[in-house]
Amino acid sequence: MTYDEFKQKGLSIDMTRGKPAPEQLDLSQALIDEAGSAGYRSRDGIDCRNYGHLLGLPEMRELGAELLGVPPAQVVAAGNSSLELMHDALAFAMLFGLPGGEPWRKADQVSFLCPVPGYDRHFAICAALGIRMIAVPMREDGPDMAFVEAQVATDPSIKGIWCTPLYSNPTGTIYSAQVVERLASMPCAAPDFRLFWDDAYRFHHLTEHEHASPDIVDACARAGHGDRPFVFASLSKVTLAGGGVAFLASSARNVQWWQQHVAVRTIGPDKLNQLRHVRYVRDRAALARLMARHRALLRPKFGVLAAVFDAHLKSVPGVSWTAPQGGYFVSLYVPPGRARRTVELAAQAGIVLTPAGAAFPYGIDPHDTHLRIAPSFPSLSEIELAAHGIALSVRRAIDELDPLPAS
Ligand code: PMP
Repeated sequence: MTYDEFKQKGLSIDMTRGKPAPEQLDLSQALIDEAGSAGYRSRDGIDCRNYGHLLGLPEMRELGAELLGVPPAQVVAAGNSSLELMHDALAFAMLFGLPGGEPWRKADQVSFLCPVPGYDRHFAICAALGIRMIAVPMREDGPDMAFVEAQVATDPSIKGIWCTPLYSNPTGTIYSAQVVERLASMPCAAPDFRLFWDDAYRFHHLTEHEHASPDIVDACARAGHGDRPFVFASLSKVTLAGGGVAFLASSARNVQWWQQHVAVRTIGPDKLNQLRHVRYVRDRAALARLMARHRALLRPKFGVLAAVFDAHLKSVPGVSWTAPQGGYFVSLYVPPGRARRTVELAAQAGIVLTPAGAAFPYGIDPHDTHLRIAPSFPSLSEIELAAHGIALSVRRAIDELDPLPAS
């Protein structure tokens, strides 16, 4: 089939965002159906209908601690969104400063390292708060550490780095133990430097090999930088993307700092939702069983995408794609200068892709080569069609520059 023939199909498929499919949300329907039977009394007799417990319901913090591998006192269980916690941690640092430090707003410049391709919403927070973004090349095993170390050692305006240590969005990168040790131990010119450790895909394995997230809280403590990590995670893609529970884990000092500032913002989180989640998710083993059911739904989607790309793009020079072992995304690389055009052509054929450049600070992919593909939400048959349309769009975008001789 040619690109023009494909276009005639008049499709409309959205491949832009890493949303769970309705069948995945159905897996946790019990949270809604049995909401009443969870009641409102916590294990310790707390009336969850009322205000209070700023850092979360004790048993939810304990479950968070079990899931994240840190002591409960160092875990905050909050609302549904970890992105919100990342935003607030940055906003609090800007307005009030981190423990022992000046408010960042008083500095002439505040900068963040941004491994690329990365998560567009991290970059949107920086843009909104006026934080300068410095792109860092992503390697097979995490950010380019020689680059990172050289930057943070000499530039005190660099206050942090975004890290998605396991199955990164959108490259699927798994940080190696060496990278993690270097991030934990590197000397930084800014005394209040932080790792914004977004462990969003900690539970989201696509293969039977369940890679473990590195224990960054412990690694930093051992390196004498106990306050360096802010760990973020959530149950958004475990239970309900719009109604899960988010966690923040860090040193006791950072948790105390968080408490001080969040106390101004709220009288307490939604403990009823936390109680329901404690009863439903229960423990690590039960969560792993639930994630296996997600995997059964997601893996065929990644499989069909790879199979169609293999069939149509394998022999095209300059084109490659990732084979993630977890997470929600595939990165597709096209020859320089062809990503934007591919997105345009795909749109004309009825397939909406994330805008080219979205995975880079300021929306600028310097070589215009990267596309983020999100195959979770559409149905399997839609993904098969969309993958074909994307492959034809890539080929057309390349042909426009360098037409192949007619055979
Ligand atoms: N971090 C990353 C890397 C993500 O990909 C996503 C969702 N796409 C989030 C955070 C959002 O998490 P939450 O639902 O907990 O706000």
